[in-house]
Amino acid sequence: MITVNDAKLIIDNHVHTKGIEKVNLNRAESRILASDAVAKIPSPLFDNSAMDGFAIKYLDIDGATKNNPVKLKLASISSAGAPTNIVLKHGECIQCMTGAKIPTGADSIIMVEKTSGFNNEKVVDFFSETLEGSNIRRQGEEVKKGELLIPKGTKITPNEIGILAAFGYGSVSVYKRPKIAIFGTGDELVEPGNELKPGQIYNSNLYVMADLVKESGSKVITKEVIKDDKNALRSFLKEALKQCDIIISSGGVSMGKYDYVRDVFIELGVEERFWKVAQKPGKPLFFGNKSSTLIFGLPGNPVSSYIGFMIWVWPVLEKMMGLVNESFVFARLKMDFPTEKHKHRFLFGQAWLEKGTLVCKPSLKLGSHMLSSSKNANCIIGAEKSDNLLKSGSQVKIKLLPWKNIKWL
Ligand code: AMP
Ligand code: MG
Repeated sequence: MITVNDAKLIIDNHVHTKGIEKVNLNRAESRILASDAVAKIPSPLFDNSAMDGFAIKYLDIDGATKNNPVKLKLASISSAGAPTNIVLKHGECIQCMTGAKIPTGADSIIMVEKTSGFNNEKVVDFFSETLEGSNIRRQGEEVKKGELLIPKGTKITPNEIGILAAFGYGSVSVYKRPKIAIFGTGDELVEPGNELKPGQIYNSNLYVMADLVKESGSKVITKEVIKDDKNALRSFLKEALKQCDIIISSGGVSMGKYDYVRDVFIELGVEERFWKVAQKPGKPLFFGNKSSTLIFGLPGNPVSSYIGFMIWVWPVLEKMMGLVNESFVFARLKMDFPTEKHKHRFLFGQAWLEKGTLVCKPSLKLGSHMLSSSKNANCIIGAEKSDNLLKSGSQVKIKLLPWKNIKWL
């Protein structure tokens, strides 16, 4: 049995990033940028109007009031996508819509509400004066040409998609997504929605794992529940080893009579890097590889399987897809945490902000079969082995579940 830290180091030594591919922006969501996105154009691209109104020379309407309006001759119209090429002269104005290019010779925009309006008159009344440059969005005031927009290694979310589109990126370089095989084992497993016979239980682990793979941005290639039968395992794994970058199993790696998963992995040429980690839950964790394919054997208890995925597999998926640092944070315990004498202890927990400090508490359901301990959880709390329980107020390392929120209390 090895320590959590040693196991992490061993896994780290076997992780490689996948290659790079170009994808259409429509399909870039949740992918990781593989090269810096740089502004190929400034933003705004040209001086344009922030209002529906009139382009003028500001000195022309000096002193204008409601009772004493200044009259200017309407010379042309400039709208978004259809600029005018008329040059504005003194005594004139040009209708100018939001986003329209500022006509040459104009130095300000007056909003339509401060004029006699858009009508068919050839002369427009202006009811108030203005300052030079008013209501003009200047070229490059937001982003200069050549500026770094989004650094490589950033996950593409709606925020990034919008920026990439606005700067004309029709496609982007992203890291390839790992191809994943997931399987569960156990003669007792039945799919939800069916009747249970005596001794049977519902398969929940594969549902959790498939959703976690999706959340991570990776891709499930094959997914199956397999009976505790060596032949069935062999034929599934042979295929998975050919097709996938990562194989993740749940169940069948403990000391039970029908726990064949490890045997079959080894029989098929998987090199065992470790089996059993000093952790609770999930001690019989298996990790190995066959050339570049990584194999994780997670124990079958639902909490061991879920927490095991987040602690061991999730960071590998992130790293393979180009995210550089594993993300965890520190928080203060709001209640005692039940550590283990000889094992690293992980529990689902709740984290929230209290007067600006991140605090957390573990679930009170401690059993590795108690999946409802994940119900209100937004993090996994981890604590080193210890002879004494960790007192409320101590600092602990937590892994936030990225799809959950942190509330202020
Ligand atoms: P094992 O690791 O195969 O010894 O399984 C440990 C416990 O987890 C047993 O109670 C199994 O019935 C349960 N288990 C295994 N696989 C699943 C699964 N896919 N969904 C829910 N429970 C499971
Ligand atoms: Mg089993």
